[in-house]
Amino acid sequence: MNKVSRILTLPETPRTFGFFVDGEWREGGDLFERASPGHGVAVTRIPKCTVADLDDAVAAARRAFEDRRWSGLSGAERAGVLLRAAAILRQRRDEIAYWEVLENGKPITQALGEIDHCIACFETAAGVARLLHGESFNSLGDKLFGLTLREPIGVVGLITPWNFPFLILCERVPFILASGCALVVKPSEVTSATTLLLAEVLAEAGLPAGVYNVVTGSGRTIGQALTEHPDVDMLSFTGSTAVGQSCVQASAASNFKKLGLELGGKNPIVVFADSNLEDAADAAAFGISFNTGQCCVSSSRLIVEASVADAFEALLAEKMARIRVGDPLDAATQVGAITTEAQNATILGFIDKGRSEGARVVTGGAAVDLGRGSYIAPTLFSGVTRDMAIACDEIFGPVLSSFRFETVEEAVALANDTVYGLAASVWTRDIDKALTVTRRVRAGRFWVNTIMAGGPEMPLGGFKQSGWGREAGMLGVEEYTQVKSVHIETGPRARWIA
Ligand code: NAD
Repeated sequence: MNKVSRILTLPETPRTFGFFVDGEWREGGDLFERASPGHGVAVTRIPKCTVADLDDAVAAARRAFEDRRWSGLSGAERAGVLLRAAAILRQRRDEIAYWEVLENGKPITQALGEIDHCIACFETAAGVARLLHGESFNSLGDKLFGLTLREPIGVVGLITPWNFPFLILCERVPFILASGCALVVKPSEVTSATTLLLAEVLAEAGLPAGVYNVVTGSGRTIGQALTEHPDVDMLSFTGSTAVGQSCVQASAASNFKKLGLELGGKNPIVVFADSNLEDAADAAAFGISFNTGQCCVSSSRLIVEASVADAFEALLAEKMARIRVGDPLDAATQVGAITTEAQNATILGFIDKGRSEGARVVTGGAAVDLGRGSYIAPTLFSGVTRDMAIACDEIFGPVLSSFRFETVEEAVALANDTVYGLAASVWTRDIDKALTVTRRVRAGRFWVNTIMAGGPEMPLGGFKQSGWGREAGMLGVEEYTQVKSVHIETGPRARWIA
């Protein structure tokens, strides 16, 4: 029996967590009980923190930042902590994946893959910590020499969503730490466990107290208070565009904190007739079903060349119908549970709307009854027009809307026909078409003859209403720094007063 199969049963009693401030665990007063979305069984109890708890955490982060216990270390020393954290994550991979599955409902094999990506994030950020640097300006004449210094921005507030609780966390935390900042994290109230487990990992890796703090609770109280907090220098928010807008207002109304925003998407997958249609159909099925479509970069709009559209939709539908929807703790499952009851109702509501607005269900279109938990079959709608809700709105579920085009111009126009600009994918064997679509479609992440590929070396972020700023890679560390321009004069001063 391998290590994973030994832990694939539900916990007998829910695990109670504290929250983490200034290097110490604190007990919560009121607790929020989370039921596993795949099973409906209580799995965790998480503190409903108060605004006073948040104030303590921000104060701890502020002290840690100001006394330079972390920002004053060399890049090599910070890298050492990040690499130790990566090693501990490798040891605790199965356990962290298990709690991620219990709270989120994603399949265990997928969660394990995500932890591997998280480990890579820590290792990449460790490299960047050593390489972070400014520039020199030797072009200002003999009397003046210029330098730019990259300095950590200070105390960062980090708000994360429930769809990839650990992965989104780890696409940010190691990069924020590499920059020298201190942070206060507010995870989604329904998926806080693994964010708290990371506190254990970082403490064991040698991160000084007060640099990583976690305050759990609702978005409306703790999230809102963090966005409004006058002693937070930057807020990194990942979640819905609607809440992102409220963060912008809160930042402007408080202290003009810098914002990094990673928001929603309605991402196109453009399939030309000359592409390998089997591969493209496999990618389209994966792109909309991965993480039950609860993925900001899900390819939720299929834009397919009219000459092959009927055949392609049939091929895709046949593949989607074979996707294994099942218990997240079963290693054979490809698509797990919908994470919250509210999200389940939202997705089913969009499916009803698609039908009533005249689109045709080619496959799926209904809940899957597994006796417990919330599951939805991967769904393909044909005959979608641009005025329909399923054409424009982010559904955040396994629901793919299909459109047709005749020319490259039309394909580009359809792909850009959204307020979002997070990600896009194009499938063709023709380099001209691939490059034209890549250059003209406005999206922060682009995939040519692949989908959702990448690594932590590459920056992440959106165009248009999908957000501001970039996470991961070199840019993901620079995002949490600010640039100081230093001017150094040599030789005697040319006096102003004679
Ligand atoms: P959400 O916006 O409801 O919540 C995200 C986080 O914000 C949670 O921690 C929540 O508690 C908190 N929050 C809620 N109200 C708040 C407020 N008024 N002030 C401050 N914080 C508040 O989003 P969600 O439902 O958890 O996640 C789904 C959304 O996230 C989708 O729109 C999806 O596209 C987006 N998302 C984007 C990315 C990306 O990288 N672009 C990644 C994942 C998810």
